[in-house]
Order: sequence, then C-alpha cells, then structure tokens
Amino acid sequence: MLRTVFGYDAFRGEQAAIIDTVVAGGDALVLMPTGGGKSLCYQVPALVREGTGVVVSPLIALMQDQVDALGALGVRAAFLNSSQRLDERREVEAAYLAGELDLLYLAPERLTVPDTVRLLEGGRIALFAIDEAHCVSSWGHDFRPDYLALAMLHERWPDVPRIALTATATAATAAEIVSRLKLEDATQFVASFDRPNIEYRIVAKDEPRRQLLTLLRDEHPGDAGIVYCLSRKSVEQTAAFLNKERITALPYHAGLDAGVRSANQSRFLREPGVVMVATIAFGMGIDKPDVRFVAHLDLPKSVEGYYQETGRAGRDGAPATAWLAYGLADVVSQRKMIDSSEGDAAHRRRLSAHLDAMLALCETVECRRAQLLAYFGQAAEPCGNCDTCTSPPQTWDGTVPAQKLLSAVWRLADRRQRYGAGHVVDILLGNANERVTQLGHTDLTVFGIGTELDANEWRGVVRQLLAQQLLAVADGYGTLVLTESSTAVLRGERTVALRREAPRAARSSSRKKSSAAEAVALDAPGEAVFERLRAWRSATAKEAGMPPYVIFHDATLRQIASSAPTSLSDLGAVSGVGANKLAKWGPAILAVVAG
Ligand code: ADP
Ligand code: ZN
Repeated sequence: MLRTVFGYDAFRGEQAAIIDTVVAGGDALVLMPTGGGKSLCYQVPALVREGTGVVVSPLIALMQDQVDALGALGVRAAFLNSSQRLDERREVEAAYLAGELDLLYLAPERLTVPDTVRLLEGGRIALFAIDEAHCVSSWGHDFRPDYLALAMLHERWPDVPRIALTATATAATAAEIVSRLKLEDATQFVASFDRPNIEYRIVAKDEPRRQLLTLLRDEHPGDAGIVYCLSRKSVEQTAAFLNKERITALPYHAGLDAGVRSANQSRFLREPGVVMVATIAFGMGIDKPDVRFVAHLDLPKSVEGYYQETGRAGRDGAPATAWLAYGLADVVSQRKMIDSSEGDAAHRRRLSAHLDAMLALCETVECRRAQLLAYFGQAAEPCGNCDTCTSPPQTWDGTVPAQKLLSAVWRLADRRQRYGAGHVVDILLGNANERVTQLGHTDLTVFGIGTELDANEWRGVVRQLLAQQLLAVADGYGTLVLTESSTAVLRGERTVALRREAPRAARSSSRKKSSAAEAVALDAPGEAVFERLRAWRSATAKEAGMPPYVIFHDATLRQIASSAPTSLSDLGAVSGVGANKLAKWGPAILAVVAG
C-alpha cells in the first residue's frame, strides 16, 4: 500500500508498528508532532482491513481538500458534515452502505445524531480514527464538547479497532485522552516531538510590525507563512500593514464572514507566497507543506498552543522559522484575560500555570528546543538551531538589581500602593516626572538607586523576574507584587542569574535567504526543469480546483527535476509518485521534463 498507493519507499519512525497494531485489530494512541506522518497510520489500515475507515475530525473546512488529496491517490474517500446539501449527503451515505468507500470523514457532532449511528451500523467499519484527539481534553487548549461523546464508539462497536491521534503530547493531555475515550487497553506510541528543521527564535518586542517586516524581507521574501495575533483588531491592522508594504497578506479570524474565511484559507493553500495573518482560530489541520515561517506577534497562552502553532511551519522538512516577539504588555494583558475568564479558581490556576511555563520558555538561557521538549517530557541536547544556541545569551549576576527592583515594589506595598512596571522603573531611574512627584515617590529610599541600567534593561529585568516567579503581575493593570520567593532574594539568601539583553537587530547577515531552496540542490538546467514542473503543476491544480501540493510536493518535483526520468518506470521510482498519480500525470510530467 505504501509503495503503490502513496508512492513512498519506507515507513517513518513508528508508522509500521502503529499500522501493524491497528491492522491486527488493536487500539492505538498515537502522539506524534505535526508533520510526523499521522495520516498514513490510519489510512493504510483502512485500505488493508475490510470495510470503511471512519475518521472523526473537527476540521470541517479541510475535509474537501483531504478527500480530494485521497482521490488523487486513487483512494475512495468522502465526508459527511453540516456544510453539505441533503442530496450530497445521501449520495455519500449510499456509497458507504454499498461498501464503496475506503475512508469516511465525519465531524464529531455527526456522531451525536442517532441517524448517523444507524447509518454506520448499516455498513462495515474497518476502524475508527479519532484525529486531533486532544480536543477531548479540557486541560488542553482546543476542547470540543462533542468529543466527549466519542467514548460511545467503544461501547457500540467493541470489535472495531480505534486509533486516536494528536500532536499535543503532555502527559496530562495523554492521560485525559485515555480515560475519556476509554483507551486503557490501547498501545501507546510516542514519537519524538523534535522538529529539527524549525529554527526557534524569541525576541523582545520593540516595534513588532517593523520587526516582523524585517524578518519577512530579510529572510523570507516571497515565502508563505502564518502570523499569529491575539485579537481580531490586530489581525486586521497587521494584514493591512503588510499589504501596504507590498506583501500579500490575508486576514483570518472568527469575526469574519464564513465565506471570506474560507476564501482566504483557500487562497493561502493554493497561491504561492501568501501570508496568513490570523488568530488561533486558524491553522488546525492545515497540511500545507511549504509554510516557511510562523510568527507570533503576541505571547501564546501556553507552550502547548505555541508548539502546535509553530509546528505548522516546515512540514516538508525544509528549513523553517518559528519567530515570536513578546514584551511586558503581553504578560499584563494575559493576566487580565485570566482574571476575567469564566470558570472556577482551579481553571484560573491552570491558565496561570500555562502562562508561567510560556514565560519561562521566553526568558530561558538554555536551548529553546531542549526546553520545549522537556515540557513534553523528552530529553534533548542543545540543538544548534535556535537563537539561544546560535548566539548564547550571556548571563550575569543580577542579584543586586533584582533586590533594588523588589525592594521598590516592597516599599510601595508598604505604603499600601501598587504600581506597574513603568512607574517602578521611573522610580529606580530617578525620573522625577509629574506622576512620580505628585505621588511623593521622590521621597522613597529607592528613588534613583537604579541608574546603572537603562529603562529597557530594567524592563528586561522585570520580565525575567516574572519568568523566574520572583515577581508577579497581580491583575490586568499590570500591578507588580512580590511572591513567596521574593523574600529570599531581598534577604540575600538567593542569587539571581539574568540574561543579558541581546543588542538590537544584531542578526548575523550570514543568514540564508529563502530556505526552501535547500532541499535538493539542482544545477541550472535542473532548476529550469523544476520551474517548468511548477508551472505545469500550478496549471493542473487550477484546472482540478485543488491546492498544488495535493498533486505533488515541491520535494517530489525537485527529485523529478534532478533525476530527469525518461520512462514511466523511472518516474514511478521517485518518492511521492504512487501508481494512481503515475497513471494520471506521468505522461504529462515526462513531456515537461523532456522540454
Ligand atoms: P501529520 O498529520 O502527522 O501532521 P501528515 O500525515 O500530514 O502529518 O504527514 C506529513 C507529510 O509527510 C505528508 O506530506 C506525508 O505525505 C508525508 N509522509 C508521511 N509518511 C511518509 C513516509 N513514510 N514517507 C514519506 N513521506 C511521508
Ligand atoms: Zn537550541
């Protein structure tokens, strides 16, 4: 199946073991990062086992593309969701009942409808695949109540194997998936979560849009990418800003009309070099392979969310950038959101814990990747492909500045007054501005004791003390308060290591231009063939109404260009060229290669 249908030579990682388990009728829980190759884990067993593989997926907007992509491989696939007309639905139902489907994609809410259960009972089911299984977890960041109902699959069809898959992999989430979906007997497969081709970088927020523009212009000209913003308004503003700078950028957020959203998504998937500016409403399940960067203009709410979002970069294995700009204001606004969030105290504590972990990642002096993987319970050596590895931040003994800052907060608290970072820094710097003077804060013993650092450096100290939980933001106004650990620093019982703020905009100029070009090196004639193949693909995709990568990935086109096949059998040996695609497009490709 792997060779003939998908055109690949070998299974990756644990794919073979997972497929064996499911083909033999066993249940499996698969934790694998985005781009790891989860789909094959249920697609191959669905083809091997008798009956239809039923795939539960929340990604309604992507079902059409998924089904088209399978169709291009010669796999008989269809979907049922609320976007369909009745007659379309009837047609799919009839095909299922007649045993003519290899795969049937279902939105989870479909399964809560008795009609659907009756329908499924009328046919033969090869397996259940529960995609994005973390949606069942309330600890995770994508909870969907409909997923809770999926526990019934096991009760109704005890003999049908189930495979649950997710790219979210903390132990807590995995445990919740197991208990909620009754997967106690499932074999667990945990892949390495490392995505070695993604370069992680986190910078201090200064002028975020300018910083973003520099990143796009210097390192990703003409590349497709995603820019995440927290609010709808900043999505709109950022997209407008990029367009003004002649970068094709489209907005995506829940406030946009559904038609606009799906049109923008479709352009992003089909046209080359489009930048999607979005809230986190965008991206789950997007399998566009050549997303070259994911940029965050606001601090993500959790490491899990951050990892999912950045994981959308570089699924094709070629170099990609995950870039995040964050500042103190992010911490304050998140604190505000947590305070005003619905839910009980336990829920708020959970959100706070997520924020703390995210801050710790931002301010770490260790390898970002090692820290990320540690969060998912996996050990790793320093990677050499993140900002802290390539330009290791120097640490310095910041005990004295930390003491100064904490005592300023303490002095204010002593007067029953509480202020945010800006005011505290003014006091430390001895800025006798109107506010400081009016409040009588020029009289404080800490007034002007911190002139050895500038305002920017002080803000860095505040961020790092927050990340080390030696200081806390008490509310949505950014009020700084001491924590239990602060006292030890004030008493001199504990030293504080701080990272030296990297000098602004000092990125090495040795940085490669567009990273996509690195996969297979082509000589000049090869490059010309590759361009012709791309032109052919884009015309063919347009005609078929499919995204270009559904036809062939860039990596496959590059291999074709470099091996210059002259026969169908040579072409069939290229990774990514399966039997169906060979029959359908082989002759056209050979003609393009021949020129
Ligand atoms: P996930 O769902 O885990 O994010 P996908 O299933 O979309 O990842 O797979 C990511 C990419 O890797 C896809 O383009 C897929 O075709 C490719 N892929 C998966 N398994 C293999 C394999 N064994 N050999 C070559 N390519 C593979
Ligand atoms: Zn590293």
